[in-house]
Amino acid sequence: MFTLQSLPYPEDALAPAISAETVHFHYHKHHQGYVIKLNKALDSGAHDEYRDASLEHIIKNADGKLYNLAAQVWNHDFYWQGIDPKGGGSPPQAVADILNQHFGSVDAFLAEFSDAASNEFGSGWAWLMRKTDGTLEVCSTTDAVNPLHDGNTPILTLDVWEHAYYLDYQNRRADYINDYIKRLLNWQFVERNLAR
Ligand code: MN
Repeated sequence: MFTLQSLPYPEDALAPAISAETVHFHYHKHHQGYVIKLNKALDSGAHDEYRDASLEHIIKNADGKLYNLAAQVWNHDFYWQGIDPKGGGSPPQAVADILNQHFGSVDAFLAEFSDAASNEFGSGWAWLMRKTDGTLEVCSTTDAVNPLHDGNTPILTLDVWEHAYYLDYQNRRADYINDYIKRLLNWQFVERNLAR
């Protein structure tokens, strides 16, 4: 059985970029809901080959509802960790060097990431990921889709489901993305993931 990963900061720590109300509903209702539904699906007896599997194993191997639920649990864990209440600003030099090498500049990377998050048509996620050939790529995915399913390695993600920003920004997804980049992006998390 999976448990809800604890939040790395208090619920009100992300305001004004993300309000305590949004964090409360997002974490205790949406994220928690995926954990409960995943456990229920695993408990149903329909997926016994995944009974003792890790989230990663389920994401890489399962399809359909079980994959979607496991991915949503993993994606939210990763999203919260990729946020730092004192984040944003400039990346550490080691990260800047890598982004310069793959995207031309840190700003070019941020523009690409922001575009991916803005242009995802419906509910989904923006990602920085490392592909199997070692190159870094920005992409967006629909609904629950996680790059691990195709063998790629997530480095950073941003939740662009409406529940992630609607209470604070309504239809202004671009403002949510900008505030995340300016105030919350956890560059230390990116650095750790790039070093793995
Ligand atoms: Mn979400």
